[in-house]
Amino acid sequence: MSSSARILLVEDDEATRNAVARNLEGHGFKVTPSGDVAEALRRWDAERPDLILLDLGLPDLDGATVVRHVRRDATTPILILSARADERVKVATLEAGADDYVTKPFGMDELRARIGALLRRAAGPAADQGGVVTLGPVSLDVAARRVTVNGVPVDLTPREYELLKVMVAQPGRLLTKGRLLRAVWGTAYAGEAHYLHVYVSRLRRKLNAADPDTGADSLITAEPGIGYRISDPTARR
Ligand code: CA
Repeated sequence: MSSSARILLVEDDEATRNAVARNLEGHGFKVTPSGDVAEALRRWDAERPDLILLDLGLPDLDGATVVRHVRRDATTPILILSARADERVKVATLEAGADDYVTKPFGMDELRARIGALLRRAAGPAADQGGVVTLGPVSLDVAARRVTVNGVPVDLTPREYELLKVMVAQPGRLLTKGRLLRAVWGTAYAGEAHYLHVYVSRLRRKLNAADPDTGADSLITAEPGIGYRISDPTARR
């Protein structure tokens, strides 16, 4: 399996970090390495990765701090890299919202399989087995980070992509402005509704420009004062 998904790798052991990063990059993933919680949280806010690989024993704070912080904002999958015999910490981290764990030493084939499964699941109920969500003419491939309208590629910025990804993972659902802002930009931006307005407009414009005949832009509708939703045309049948 090859993927262009972005992974935040939080691991303080340099040898493990380098080995995991090299292997994943060899399979196409874009890896951001991070050695402690403070750096991981900065990276999370700056880059909004598709998935987080999280060691539990970190030099500054416990890995569960990362889980709690990320879960305030978003449902991004978190896979724990656990070296600990300490079941208590592992369970506490899972209860804080992590999705799965692998125990060190782990095989890279197993790790990539778990990553692939989490990415597909995160793509939401409309995704096919390959993690591709198709809503009318719009298609979003989570592994490839690729968006098309009737097969025509749409060039999106990372935040535009993230906004569309969050919406297509929950087709038909009304997502409040605060929720979208936290998921795409972070809690500090939860009141910046104008951001969202600007980005949704751009997103609609780009979807429409890719193939003006399909009306792809009309898939995203505003609920004035509340938020936005993307519709699933097949769900209306
Ligand atoms: Ca460690």
